[in-house]
Amino acid sequence: MNELKEIAQWIGGHSIHQEMLVNETLPDPSFVSNGRKYVSFSTNNYLALANHPRMVAAAKQGLDRYGVGNCESRLLGGDLEVYRELESRLAALKHKTDAVLFGTGYLTNVGVLSSLVKAGTLARIHGYRAKTRYKYVYLSDELNHISIREGIQMSGANRHNYKHRDMNHLESLLKAAEGATPIIVSDGVFSMDGTIAPLPELVALAERYGAILYIDDAHATGVLGKNGGGTSEYYNCYSPNIIQMGTLSKAFGAIGGFVAVDRDVADVIRLTSSAYGFTCPPTPDQACALIAALDLLVEEPQRRQRLWDNQRYFIAQMQPLGFKLVSTETAIVPVLIGDSELCQNYSKALRDEGIHVDSVQFPATPVGQARLRFMMNAGHSREQIDHVVGVMAEISRRL
Ligand code: PMP
Repeated sequence: MNELKEIAQWIGGHSIHQEMLVNETLPDPSFVSNGRKYVSFSTNNYLALANHPRMVAAAKQGLDRYGVGNCESRLLGGDLEVYRELESRLAALKHKTDAVLFGTGYLTNVGVLSSLVKAGTLARIHGYRAKTRYKYVYLSDELNHISIREGIQMSGANRHNYKHRDMNHLESLLKAAEGATPIIVSDGVFSMDGTIAPLPELVALAERYGAILYIDDAHATGVLGKNGGGTSEYYNCYSPNIIQMGTLSKAFGAIGGFVAVDRDVADVIRLTSSAYGFTCPPTPDQACALIAALDLLVEEPQRRQRLWDNQRYFIAQMQPLGFKLVSTETAIVPVLIGDSELCQNYSKALRDEGIHVDSVQFPATPVGQARLRFMMNAGHSREQIDHVVGVMAEISRRL
C-alpha cells in the first residue's frame, strides 16, 4: 500500500483529478462547470445526439417497459427483444448479416480480440477438425487504441505491431506469418491523429494472405460515409473478411459497443467471448435510445452535414494562422504544439476563455508531438468556432 501511495504522489494523480472540469450539464457541445459556461471541443458526442429529445423519449419508454437493468448476461437468461432488434439494425448499417452487442466499446475490443483465437479451441472441443491446430498471429497498427492492444495481449497469441498505416511493413509481417492465420487489426479513424486507415489496401492484403481484418470504427461509425456507415462506406469498400467494430458512446450518444460480422462468426464470438457471456449488455433503456439514434442517422442527415461544414470551416480559419494540423480528414483535428508544457499552457489559457480542449502528450503521443486535440461537433455554432480561432491566435502571440 505504501508503494502505491508513493506512486500516487509521484504522478500527481490527485491534483490531475482535482484540476479536471466536472460538468454540471452535458457537453452538447456547450456545458456548465462550477457555474461557468464552456464550449467543448473535446466531446465524442459528434452529432449532438446524446440529449436529443427523441433519444431521451425512447430511453424513458424503455425504462417504463423494462425497468433500469437486465441484471444478467444474455447467455444466461438476460436476453431481451430490444437487444436483438438493435443488433439487427447495427448489422444492416454495416452491411453484415449479424452483430454482437457488448457493454462498451472497450469491452468489445478486449472481449472479441482476446477470444477470436479461442475459436480453434471451441472447434476442437466440439470435435470439429479435431486434428487441426489453429494458430493465429495478430498484426496491429502501432497507433491502435489501448483496448485493442490489451485485447491482443490477453489472447496470448503471437503479435507484432506494424508502423502506422505502413502497408509495406504490414506485408513483410504477413509474409513472415506463414503457417498461422494472420488477424490484421486497425482503427478505422485513429483517435490521436485523426487519420483514416487505408482500408482498400488492408482488404487487398487480407485477401492476398488469407487474413482476417478487424476494423475499430469507434470514431467513424455515424460520422464517415454518406449514411454514417463508417470507414467501409467512406471508401465504398466491403469485404466478407472484415469484422466491423463500433462503439455506441460517440456519434450514437449513448453507451455500448458491437462487432458486425456474418452470422456464423457472430455465433462463435457469442460462445467464446467472456465479455459477452459473463457480463451484462448496455441497459435496456440505452438499447431503446440507440434504436432511436439509428433512426435519426437516417432522418436527420443534416447533422452529419453540419459536422463536416464545421470541420471545414475550422480548418479554413486555422491554417492561414500558421498552425500545423496533424490531419484534416476527420472530425478529430489535432493542432500540433510540440512541447508538452507549452501544450498544457495552451489548454489552460483556452480554459480561462471558456473553451475546453484536451491537451494530449506522451505517452499517448510520441515525445515532442504534444497536441491540442480539437474534436468537431455538429452542434458548434459559427460564433463558437470564430471565438476559439481568435483565442488560439491570441495565445500563440502571447506564448
Ligand atoms: N476504440 C477507440 C478507437 C476509441 O477511441 C475508444 C474510446 N476512446 C474505444 C475504442 C472505446 O470505446 P468506449 O468509450 O465506448 O468504451
